[in-house]
Amino acid sequence: MIPKSHPRYESLLLRDKIVKASQKGYLADSGMIAHGRGEAFDYLIGEKTTYPAKRAMYVAVAALILSNNPVISVNGNASALACDEIIELAKSINAKIEINLFYRTDERVRLLTKLYKDHGYDDILGTLDDDIEYIDGIKNNRASASKTGIYSSDTILVPLEDGDRAEILKKSGKNIITIDLNPLSRTSKMSDVSIMDNIVRAIPYMTKIAEDLKTQDKQVLINIVNEFDNEENLKESSHYCKYGRYN
Ligand code: ATP
Ligand code: MG
Repeated sequence: MIPKSHPRYESLLLRDKIVKASQKGYLADSGMIAHGRGEAFDYLIGEKTTYPAKRAMYVAVAALILSNNPVISVNGNASALACDEIIELAKSINAKIEINLFYRTDERVRLLTKLYKDHGYDDILGTLDDDIEYIDGIKNNRASASKTGIYSSDTILVPLEDGDRAEILKKSGKNIITIDLNPLSRTSKMSDVSIMDNIVRAIPYMTKIAEDLKTQDKQVLINIVNEFDNEENLKESSHYCKYGRYN
């Protein structure tokens, strides 16, 4: 048991979730290292959601609501940290959820399918019996996607995504939204909307935003999306890596 008074309490709880996911077998070994990289950036920003991250979240939610076929892509890390919260966001914005693994094995797909089922969500895509297609005909696991999900989606939320995979999605003309604590990662740089925040804070915050934006006129949402400059916002986000902890 980690005492609540421990200065790194929240962070240690997240580590514990990652370790358990690894023991259960749905997190790839490299997922632990990816978590460590994210953790370091979160430490630098003071483990708080920054203003530019909030701004990016408004844009992301507006884009997802405006989209014809929005999909939330999930991997082992995202699921270990925020499975219930992802399900709640998907329901609130009418998005599909798709298992999407960089190191895709049948066993991990099976375990993740079961995880979402156990959490009350039966409609997950990208499962072993789903129709899988290859984006732009690239015969590679990194380009595989569910026919009714990411393959035919216009807007995809890809939290904690690898740069190679993000590049394939981007090149195929899709609107890419990421949640990534590293503002310098290839995924952050190539996405249309980059939310530099911890997934455990960002997803519930986005669900709250969705409740507000769902009641707004379509034109208001279009304006929110059109007025956004991701490069500028990422630059602003990265300043928090230098000063966030001291604020
Ligand atoms: P890229 O391939 O885009 O250049 P990378 O190789 O640094 O990035 P990957 O392991 O491919 O990283 O992807 C994982 C990304 O997820 C990392 O950028 C890491 O900072 C980020 N990350 C890890 N944990 C979290 C978290 N809890 N919340 C948000 N982002 C996280
Ligand atoms: Mg990578």
